[in-house]
Amino acid sequence: MNKKLFVISGCSGVGKGTVINEFMKRNSDNFILSVSCTTRNPRPGEADGVNYFFITKEEFEQNIKDSKFLEYANFAGNYYGTKQKYVQQKMDEGFNVLLEIDTQGALQVKEKMPEAVLIFIAPPSVEELEHRLRGRHTEDEETIQKRLAQVKIELERSQKYDYTVINDSIERAVEEIERIVRGNVAR
Ligand code: 5GP
Repeated sequence: MNKKLFVISGCSGVGKGTVINEFMKRNSDNFILSVSCTTRNPRPGEADGVNYFFITKEEFEQNIKDSKFLEYANFAGNYYGTKQKYVQQKMDEGFNVLLEIDTQGALQVKEKMPEAVLIFIAPPSVEELEHRLRGRHTEDEETIQKRLAQVKIELERSQKYDYTVINDSIERAVEEIERIVRGNVAR
């Protein structure tokens, strides 16, 4: 059976982490959530190799030079990227791979692998999004401002995605993603 690459993006604070965790709980038998590399500091509770591979800027830039990334982006002042080899390995092991990456990276993936399926998780409204972002209490004001400025750009880029899912309810959003996946995975 052909293994597929799915890419999920969404504005900061849209709740995509929760939606993806729920999706993975239900679909871990044939899906793997890709672990990205980043140069940002770990948040409390995050572990190296689980949430991200936390690497230095120098290491990241060396990987760019060596063409190790399927895609990478600079997001809110830090690098984030997906290793080509990591994704290939998981597909060879028989998993569909899910990438949770930003819109710049997603569009790079679509260029290299047009068969990849791009899903954008959108907030019910921008006001609701700002409320959720502040409620998280994990970022300072400057970071929040940077991330809100990013929202407009991300919504614009989402026009190029294959699907948009509104996260008005986690349960409903997960079910919609499952329907999209079922329609795209060869049986
Ligand atoms: P956070 O710092 O909140 O974990 O992630 C910030 C943003 O970086 C999110 O939009 C997330 O989807 C994105 N991101 C995480 N990993 C990657 C990656 O490997 N590549 C790209 N392009 N974006 C990523």
